This record gives sequence, structure tokens and C-alpha cells, in this order.
Amino acid sequence: MIIKMPENAKFILDTMHKAGFEAYIVGGCVRDALLGREPMDWDITTNALPEDTKKLFRRTIDTGIEHGTVTVMMGKEGYEVTTYRIDGKYEDSRHPSEVTFTKNLTEDMRRRDFTINAMAYNDEEGLIDRFGGVEDLEKKLIRCVGNAHERFSEDALRIMRAVRFSAQLDYEIEEETKEAIKELAPTLKKISAERIQVELIKLLESDHPEKFMDLYDLGITKVVLPEFDACMETEQNNPHHLYDVGTHIVKSLSYVKSDKVLRLAMLLHDIGKPLTKTNDDNNICHFHGHAQLGAKMAEDIFRRLKFDRDTMDRVCNLIKYHDDRFPAEPRSVRRAMNRVGVEDFTLLLDVKYADTMAQSSYYQKEKLQALKDIRVLYDKIKKENDCVTLKQLAVGGKDLICLGIAPGRQIGDILNAMLSDVIDEPAHNTKEYLLEPERLKNVFMKEHEQGEDHEKESSDN
Ligand code: ATP
Ligand code: MG
Repeated sequence: MIIKMPENAKFILDTMHKAGFEAYIVGGCVRDALLGREPMDWDITTNALPEDTKKLFRRTIDTGIEHGTVTVMMGKEGYEVTTYRIDGKYEDSRHPSEVTFTKNLTEDMRRRDFTINAMAYNDEEGLIDRFGGVEDLEKKLIRCVGNAHERFSEDALRIMRAVRFSAQLDYEIEEETKEAIKELAPTLKKISAERIQVELIKLLESDHPEKFMDLYDLGITKVVLPEFDACMETEQNNPHHLYDVGTHIVKSLSYVKSDKVLRLAMLLHDIGKPLTKTNDDNNICHFHGHAQLGAKMAEDIFRRLKFDRDTMDRVCNLIKYHDDRFPAEPRSVRRAMNRVGVEDFTLLLDVKYADTMAQSSYYQKEKLQALKDIRVLYDKIKKENDCVTLKQLAVGGKDLICLGIAPGRQIGDILNAMLSDVIDEPAHNTKEYLLEPERLKNVFMKEHEQGEDHEKESSDN
């Protein structure tokens, strides 16, 4: 068994061996190499203490000295070199209260989460597999090293990691490991939002996002995303739908490409449905306002899970507009591009496609054709650079001020009135047309005045 590792990793191992230390590549990189997947990073485990490692290499960074980790820099690449260690007692299912270094590789392997992650390798000794990692790779199983219940009690994040690896590799979770997850899922509430978020994203971006359903089946969403459990309990008796809301959501995940914003948008696009459900006289379900409410709920969820602002804003925008229906006509498409934002408009079409694919066959062909037609129109609008935003308007605030219009709110109102006109009729996007004195005074400035009148009326009431 030979694993081909990068020259730099080989150099680090050789240097350590020559200095009399044991050293192996370990964990995820061994697993991925055995599977023929490109490892993300090559971690190294050794009996050398951090200060020994630092003496051997010119450039090192103290990444986590107290946990025994030093990063060895080779050019721009960093390699984490960690001293064999035993994790001490865990407090709160979270952090080991202390780590102890050990001289024994097997001890270090024993503290790792899953058998497939607990293998080490170097060219001299070949593969070191003390817990049946290769066998589980062959059986396609995620299995804890040792007693599953103990392992999850030590660190509840491993619960999320189990499902995440099963989605990345398309593996089953072994029975005893699964039972322990079900029992200990509630302890996930002790894990920080940031760490949960990382695992959730990896699961969603994987090749098998449908494994998200395991998070529900194992009682994990109940703790980290209870809003989803409500979706599983919401039937949709409506000709457009085949599934309850939760199942529809999970089906829809597979119809968008692996992209953080798109997968999150699908996960949460119908999250507002349970709270907006009504039944009409024919017992057909409706969900009026679910997109608006969903965007609001998603914002709360993103804050709770400590997501970054940009991801939150983009996903919430897609959720808000996912159910907007507009005809495949240039004018309507330009309006929609203005409303949704040009940058993410094609993502909205991706969301609508996935949403439709996860629905029933009722009018499905027509819905898909309309989306295709809209995409063609979008491409044409982009190519011809039709004006759909204020930035593209032939007239700017300065032009109006030069004509003697006082700076202030009315400038914005006039420009928006012009934009609205130009979105309907792209040929109007010239200075000559828009600034023609009669038109400016009687059309665009009138709209501003009318807007003001409306405001007065409403504030009087
Ligand atoms: P990837 O980097 O592809 O997400 P990985 O298996 O390399 O997967 P890392 O988080 O980089 O995962 O961790 C490296 C190794 O450290 C793992 O393979 C595993 O042996 C061990 N490990 C990481 N996190 C834990 C944990 N929470 N409990 C026990 N062992 C862990
Ligand atoms: Mg890794």
C-alpha cells in the first residue's frame, strides 16, 4: 500500500525521521488518499514535542501550541504537525480540559472520531490501521472509534461530523453509532453556533445534500433547526405538490449545484410555510405570504447560527422572491431584475428551477418552459445592456441639479420615475428624451409631486 503524498509532506516526514522521531501523515488525508480523492490538507502526527519540531524547520507558526500543534511552512503551504496526544476529561461535551502528550501512536489514534479518520501512514511502515478503518471504507460505514456513546459524550460536535461525512462520502452510519447519536443529539445545544454552522455548510455543499434528512431522522434538526421539524409536520394538499413541506425542501436541495448560497436558499425557501398555512373550502392548502415571512425567519436563523452578513442578505433576498411569478416578457423580466438585483437574478432562476423540479407534474412542463424563456430574455437584456438600474440610467442627479432642481429627495424620486419609464421602454434611455423640458416637468416631476401628496394624505390620517 503506497500513498503518494506531496513532496513537501514527504520532506517533513523525512526530516523528522532523520532527527530520530516518529512521524506519519494522519486523519482526513489518509482517508481521502485511500479513496482516490484529493485531500484538502495533509496533517502530520509525531512523537516529537512542539519545541522539537520548531527546531527542525526554518519557518513555523505556533498554531495551537497548547494542543501540540505547530504549522510548518513550506513555501506558501502550511502543514500542521501535532504531537501524539490523549485528550483529557471533556467538560460540557465540548473542550477537553487538558491534553496530555503521549509517546504512543495508538493512543493518539484512539482519541480520533471515526475509524476512517483514525489511520496513519508513512512510506517506511505503510498504513497503520488499528481500528478497522480500511474495512469501514470498504463497507462504506461511518463508525466511531471505540464506544460511540462515550465518543459523542466527549465532544457532541462529532454528531454533526458523522452526518456530514456520510453526506460527503455517501456512507451509511453504523448502527451503534446511529443509536448513540439519537440518544445524545440534545447535547448539541452545548456546541457553539460557529462550529455547527461549519458542519451544516459542509453537509449542504456535499454531493449528497439529501442526507440532510438524516439530521431530522436522528433528532438533530430538533436541536439546531427546529423550524425544519415544523416543515416535516406540514402537509400540502395542493395539486402543485407531492410532498410535505420538509420532504419537498430536501428534494429541492439536489436540484441546485453545490453552492453555499443556493443550497441555503433551498433549505430555507419554504421555512415560512408552517406558520402561513390555510385550508380553503375545498380543503386545498395555501401559504399566502410564506416567502416574506420565510425571509424574516431565515434572518433569525442566520443570526442564531452566526452566519456572515453577505450570505444572510443574499439568501434572504432569494427566499423573499422565490415565489414571485412574472411572465416571460422583456418588460417583466427587466422589472424583476431591478427588484431582485441583477447580480443574483440567475440564482433566483436556479432556485425557481429546483423548487419546480421538487413539485408535482401538474403544469410542471409549462413552469419549466417559462423559466427557460425568462433565462433567454435575461441573457438578451444583459447582452444589449438594457437599463434596469439607476447606475445604467442616461441621466444622473448632477444633470437634474444643473437644470436648477434643488438637491434632496425629489432628485431620487425623479430618477426613479425615469428608471421606471426606461425599464418599460429601453429606447427612452437617452438624455435628450428624459430631459426634454415638457416631459421632465409634466411627467417625471409630476410623479414626485403625486408621491408627496399621497404621503401627506396618509400622514394626516
Ligand atoms: P476535512 O478536512 O476533509 O473536513 P478531516 O477528517 O481532515 O476532514 P479535520 O477537521 O481536518 O477533518 O480533522 C483532522 C483529523 O482530526 C480528523 O481526520 C480526525 O482524525 C481528527 N478530528 C478532527 N475533529 C475531531 C473531533 N471533533 N473529534 C475527534 N477527532 C477529530
Ligand atoms: Mg482536514
